[in-house]
Amino acid sequence: MIESTLEILADPVLALILGLVSGAIVGSFLNVCISRIPLSKSIILPSSSCPECGDRVDWFNNIPVFSWLVLRGQASCCDFKLPLRYLAVELFTAILFAFVFFKFGGVGEFALLCTALFFGSVLIVVIGIDFETMTIPDRFSIGGALAGIVFSFCFPSLHGLSSDPILIERLSAVIISVCGLLVSSSSLYWIGATAEKLMSKEALGQGDVKLLGFVGAFCGWQGGIFVIFGGALLGTFLLIPVMIFSKLRRISLTNNKNNQLGWGMEIPFGPFLGLAALIYFLGMQEFVDGWFEGITSNFIFVFSALYSFLH
Ligand SMILES: [Zn+2]
Repeated sequence: MIESTLEILADPVLALILGLVSGAIVGSFLNVCISRIPLSKSIILPSSSCPECGDRVDWFNNIPVFSWLVLRGQASCCDFKLPLRYLAVELFTAILFAFVFFKFGGVGEFALLCTALFFGSVLIVVIGIDFETMTIPDRFSIGGALAGIVFSFCFPSLHGLSSDPILIERLSAVIISVCGLLVSSSSLYWIGATAEKLMSKEALGQGDVKLLGFVGAFCGWQGGIFVIFGGALLGTFLLIPVMIFSKLRRISLTNNKNNQLGWGMEIPFGPFLGLAALIYFLGMQEFVDGWFEGITSNFIFVFSALYSFLH
């Protein structure tokens, strides 16, 4: 079964099509998770109903991506406006799956393919929920970190170990994963604590620290450190234009002071951490790990030179 699926994925065009279609369908389910989990509602029942009037959604109005475009974001049962997020999540998941199938399908990297689909899907839900509610449910951060340890045991190739592992390699992968979890979350904790002292206000939520544990369990400590700085950089680059725009708008519309992004307001950090984690896992891994390796070997070189000089 797995063999024949991987054979299909070896064809890049088929891999892209399969990725786009399955990604859009999964994206539609991730939308349900983003909407219902913060409200403690079941993600299975009722199946596809309107959040406003509770009517069942007909299958032809429930086709991922297309239905939103055809209905132009307007529900057919009542005057409920389907948020743009529905379309964004379905499109983003479709593109992500197509990329993953294309990148890991062809070379037959079944372990990386499964891990990337799981890791990416959880991150999309975390990004969506944090963006809308400013919280990250523990089941994703803590549960995700535990899943990272289990994935590492099952697929040690995730951490560059043998893809046909013996027990000792599986245990090594678990140790790498646990170290990644602890180093990443404690690094972010201490950066946040320092920033809090310097700015004398809360700079970081507990949810972000736990999220970094999840990222570190899948990506190792190098990935975790990259995600902290990459996330901060992405946040800065993406928010500066928004803030300048809203500042200009505030000057022109002085009577409307609500719902505007401004300097010093609370902004969720999780979405940027999530994006940085996806960038690391899907493309930057070799580059970042090589960079850290270069630094460590330079340190060892300098220290051994100093040692032989002094003796
Ligand atoms: Zn409705």
